[in-house]
Amino acid sequence: MEAKSQLLNLKPYQPGKPIEEVKREYGLSKIVKLASNENPYGSSPSVKDAITAEAANLGLYPDGYSAELREELSRFLGVKEGSLIFGNGSDEVVQILSRSFLREGTNTVMAANTFPQYKHNAVIEGAEVREIPLLNGEHDLDGMLKAIDGQTRIVWLCSPNNPTGHYIDQQSFKSFMADVPDNVLVVSDEAYYEYVVADDFPETIPFLDMYPNLVILRTFSKAYGLAALRIGYGIGNEKLITAIEPAREPFNTSRIAQAAARAAIKDQEFIKSCSDRNREGLQQFYDFCKARGLDYYPSQANFILIDFKQDSNLLFQHLLERGYIVRSGAALGFPTSLRITIGDKEQNSEIIEHLENYLLKSGNVKEETV
Ligand SMILES: *Cc1c(COP(=O)(O)O)cnc(C)c1O
Repeated sequence: MEAKSQLLNLKPYQPGKPIEEVKREYGLSKIVKLASNENPYGSSPSVKDAITAEAANLGLYPDGYSAELREELSRFLGVKEGSLIFGNGSDEVVQILSRSFLREGTNTVMAANTFPQYKHNAVIEGAEVREIPLLNGEHDLDGMLKAIDGQTRIVWLCSPNNPTGHYIDQQSFKSFMADVPDNVLVVSDEAYYEYVVADDFPETIPFLDMYPNLVILRTFSKAYGLAALRIGYGIGNEKLITAIEPAREPFNTSRIAQAAARAAIKDQEFIKSCSDRNREGLQQFYDFCKARGLDYYPSQANFILIDFKQDSNLLFQHLLERGYIVRSGAALGFPTSLRITIGDKEQNSEIIEHLENYLLKSGNVKEETV
């Protein structure tokens, strides 16, 4: 038996190290995981009640169409119900789009480095992947436009970009959409939308009226704090969404996830407070970087990519042995950087202290500056 040849060169997704594994491996009792951009404050308290109530229905299949969540989310976003598609995480919407549009002989354009699932799914579909290097952490939109040809099916924009935290501003997005051929799908992955504070971050939903070739991805995994439940969604032109629906598994989002998402949308105060605390946490890291002369990208998300100008795997290991799980930039295309999820105030202080100690020990910082 032989699997598709393109699978030979693919590795399964390498997630942040699981907490239980690190506990066991290093004999630690307390672990702080700031590796997967999860919400350190969890989810809205009302989510637990919604889940408990839904637990009465575990014997029943979910509503594959997610009618109630669809109705409520469409009202919340101000879009038509038919313009939504739900996925088992927005990851699954990436997969559905890839299955729907990509195959051998086509190509797809994306930044490098960016969220790895665009490339992963494109490779599985046998499409050619055109990666356009970031310019100082930002999408090179002109470069991406130039890479588009008659066989291009999807262009992936990740804004704010994972792992740099940079975003595409309103003006750049607008002219990009105007320049992209209308038979090329543009996917704007906005997994960190709720954290964004930049005034010139584009509200992309109104663009859907003008651009039937635009799909926006959002998720309940990050600011909404429901990563465990796997639910995200795409927003697009109704015709396009109808066309890709057959590529969706019939019961891809669970009852529990749908109930939790419905409760989570209703608590926007929680989201606002998480976003505010995230800004404060980012500031803790900015202050640290400035004091130590470290390069970093200003972030519109809930993570920061810091360049320590040394092998990030060693730093990663140093933190891991002390119970702090972060992402080594080595796996993300930034071998001298760490990507750290913004935690709560105390977690941030603790991790900064460990980083200070490491820099001191490795002689990268003079004692008197500490
Ligand atoms: C985390 C993340 C996702 C995936 O989120 P899920 O909804 O949990 O699948 C998608 N895109 C980006 C850029 C992410 O960082």
